[in-house]
Amino acid sequence: MKLYTETDANPELLKDAHIVIAGYGSQGRAHALNLHDSGLNVTVAVRKNGPSWEKAQADGLKVAETAEAVKSADVVMILVPDTVQKALYESQIAPNLKSGAMLMFAHGFNIHYNQIVPAADVDVTMIAPKGPGGLVRRQFQEGKGVPCLIAVHQDASGNAHARALAYAHGIGGTRGGVLETTFKEETETDLFGEQAVLCGGATELVVKGFETLVEAGYQPEVAYFECLHELKLIVDLLHEGGIARMAEFISDTAYYGDLVSGPRVVDEYAVENMREVLKDIQDGTFARDWILENQAGAPRYNALRRQDLEHPIEEVGRKLRARMSWLNTED
Ligand code: NAD
Ligand code: MG
Repeated sequence: MKLYTETDANPELLKDAHIVIAGYGSQGRAHALNLHDSGLNVTVAVRKNGPSWEKAQADGLKVAETAEAVKSADVVMILVPDTVQKALYESQIAPNLKSGAMLMFAHGFNIHYNQIVPAADVDVTMIAPKGPGGLVRRQFQEGKGVPCLIAVHQDASGNAHARALAYAHGIGGTRGGVLETTFKEETETDLFGEQAVLCGGATELVVKGFETLVEAGYQPEVAYFECLHELKLIVDLLHEGGIARMAEFISDTAYYGDLVSGPRVVDEYAVENMREVLKDIQDGTFARDWILENQAGAPRYNALRRQDLEHPIEEVGRKLRARMSWLNTED
């Protein structure tokens, strides 16, 4: 493992650089404001008169249309949604990008799956914060930083890695630590994590547990509390101190049940399925399906999403959460 910290970065490398942040959403706003507060020259590139234009201006940042901003850019960080990056790159960025500039990403999907193929005379790097934009901004303001991943896809200048690290330093990443990876590793592990464990795995486990209890005749409200609501307590303990901290805070009965029954639920069969999910990510099957799905106007995504959100657990949850007003206060 290679981890870079503040003393490894050379902020001088971006001192005179014109940095363009394309997109002003979760990550875009955090990167732009942090870099600006680090004393760097930042322009936010968004659609003229779109909602982000005014927001970035109100935040005290320079704003320009993408094609115009890119012309003088030394660094262009692409922070529009992954599904629109290719179109934005081809129409606004590629025709205007200077030779020797650095093209940056916060997720490797479009580079790794060849949706964006940059010219040979630009650096292509990634700084991927391991947290949402709100946290990246808040931690920076508190003098801390969210850890980041760094990767170099293409080193045309011979200085790509050092420039990317200087960028990570500017958003506060070196305070939290910057971990070396590759576009391949970041893309494949990110997709696998969200599919098998974080989003897909966790919600499916919750829903199947809920269904099992309801089918056996228990009240849906009680099933909701046991299978969904209380998950947060466990996740918080895992997040703070791993499995050891959870084991310390739950009862012996709960931990014994965990040890003997957990592997019965997530068994060899589930692991075999995880391997298949990973294989679809590695061989491009998932990427191809998702790219074609978007080209078709996302009919399957929209249908599946509608079905997912119509599950009875959602109805039960809405009713119960209405009595727990404290849940809606901002994290
Ligand atoms: P987002 O959805 O929050 O913001 C996207 C922004 O792009 C919008 O606010 C808008 O300014 C602009 N935009 C939207 N549609 C557009 C279009 N059709 N044309 C031009 N501009 C458009 O996106 P995000 O979550 O900040 O993600 C940006 C990148 O950061 C992605 O590559 C993502 O994978 C990566 N990333 C996100 C997170 C996260 O937690 N959100 C964490 C790490 C990396
Ligand atoms: Mg789900």
